[in-house]
Amino acid sequence: MANFNDDGLVNEIKRRLSIIDLIESYTSVKKTGRGYVGLCPFHDDRNPSMHIDEEKGLFHCFSCGAGGDILGFYMRYNNTTFPEALQELAKRANIPIEKTAPRAKGSSAAGALFKINSIVSKYYQKTLEESARGKPALEYIAKRGIPRDVATEFGLGYAPEGWDNLAKFLTKHKAPLGLAERVGLLVRRNSGDGHYDRFRGRLMFPIVNVDGKVIGFGGRVIDGEGEPKYINSPESEIYHKRSSFYGLDKSRDHIRRARRAIIVEGYMDFLSVYVSGIKNVVATLGTALTRDHVGVLKRYTDRYVVIFDGDESGIKAAVRSLDVFLEEGLLPNVVILPEGTDPDSFLSERGKDALLSLIENAPGLLDFYIDNTVREYRSGAITLNRSVKEIADVLTKVNDPIAKNGYARKAAEKLGVRENEVMSLIRFGKGKAARPASVASAVSSTEASHALAGNSEKTLLAMLLKFPELSEIARAEYVSGDIANPEIRAILEEMLLNDVLDASALLQIFQDRPGQALITEALFSSPGISDRETAGRTIERCIKKVKQRKLDDRLKLLRLRIDEAVRNKDSELEKEILKEYSELRKLK
Ligand SMILES: [Zn+2]
Repeated sequence: MANFNDDGLVNEIKRRLSIIDLIESYTSVKKTGRGYVGLCPFHDDRNPSMHIDEEKGLFHCFSCGAGGDILGFYMRYNNTTFPEALQELAKRANIPIEKTAPRAKGSSAAGALFKINSIVSKYYQKTLEESARGKPALEYIAKRGIPRDVATEFGLGYAPEGWDNLAKFLTKHKAPLGLAERVGLLVRRNSGDGHYDRFRGRLMFPIVNVDGKVIGFGGRVIDGEGEPKYINSPESEIYHKRSSFYGLDKSRDHIRRARRAIIVEGYMDFLSVYVSGIKNVVATLGTALTRDHVGVLKRYTDRYVVIFDGDESGIKAAVRSLDVFLEEGLLPNVVILPEGTDPDSFLSERGKDALLSLIENAPGLLDFYIDNTVREYRSGAITLNRSVKEIADVLTKVNDPIAKNGYARKAAEKLGVRENEVMSLIRFGKGKAARPASVASAVSSTEASHALAGNSEKTLLAMLLKFPELSEIARAEYVSGDIANPEIRAILEEMLLNDVLDASALLQIFQDRPGQALITEALFSSPGISDRETAGRTIERCIKKVKQRKLDDRLKLLRLRIDEAVRNKDSELEKEILKEYSELRKLK
């Protein structure tokens, strides 16, 4: 029996299986002059926009950006983890591998914690589905409109009444109780030795990460008996609620395809939306949305619709979430449900199409915020001054200067003040008021130079992927730190700092991130340069442009700060910045 390490196995799979054959088994593919094209299954494709390079073993969609190698295609299409794809494709390629040699990912300690969660998850599930004790929970699930197959798909379970059912079960199966304590399933008794079960008489929702591992649990009382309604696993080495979602393991591919994520709060909301057929949904877990959450979702899409309950606390939560998105440079849309409803009750009263229509017509979160502030002002809850100031405070955090202007104009109209009055309160730099008229134009010309530099960054990546032997030129210039696009920067850091120069190794590192699309895009669109000398000159030219852009940005920023110092009559500061400015200017 072959005993491959991952790399060896990946190479063997690629040698034996054709990416064309695999993709052809899922979508129609046809030969064109230079290669193969097919209908992309990852977005609603009418004209074949997916290109496949049989020789390189890669695919790339020029419309939605999906791309990768044969494993990447399989994982994305079938929504599997890397080890699962490896197993399945090895089987198809007739490569026998040892079942018991899964990839060790993370520490072995984490592995043991995942394992105990998995054992307990199966125990809860069995209790729900097969024992008399689970019957009330099963009835409850049916009453809430969750079909049995969905309950099974999500591994729903039941933690029976009583203080030591789980402790006894684990003891009987010789599972270490200390591990169950570390993930919060058991709680150590205050008096002396022994443990008791944390979850008792509750419907159990296993929380599963995108690798398919159980990282924690949520437990809900059945029909209002007992408080609190929900309890969750405590934070542990493997469970961090600030960055974890419920359901993302099942919905991430739907999110990619829909190119949008719908965010709800809690397990039952998630399941009701998912069961209705709207599957590009995720739920936070007993916590407001954090920047860490958004960071995770950004791997799949940058378009979001957040759904809040139709009550005072839902509106407050919507307002609070604004900061999180603005700090990430994103502007999501928001649905506030009709008063007194949540996604579950809304769906059962009005149906899926009504919810879809709310989602399609959802206003931007910032529009919602402005309207809400205007409403508070009109109702007399806050003064005009305060409403202008609050809106200006929020607009201060908007990065895009055009959006910023647009929102300021809109708010001014609705509040009946002049646009300048809003703009004058928007802060630039370190909390100093006032704004020179030149900022917008300076910033937008910066954006234009970013677009150009963006092309150089992509060309640089394409050249380095095609001519890895030339990477020394880029390494010597420390160029990765000057790259503006964070994903291209991450890829170049892997290539130049960690010396990962092989395209398929890079694809593996970026398998679940937007970087993968950038890599395949670069591989497919690399300009027709085939000799090393031209490639070397192109690389040098791109590096120069990237550095130029960085310098220009810095100079523009300094000019703004000089203007500001002049306006504030701070000649000391003005002199200081001028000195830095003229020194940098010499580098041009
Ligand atoms: Zn596509």
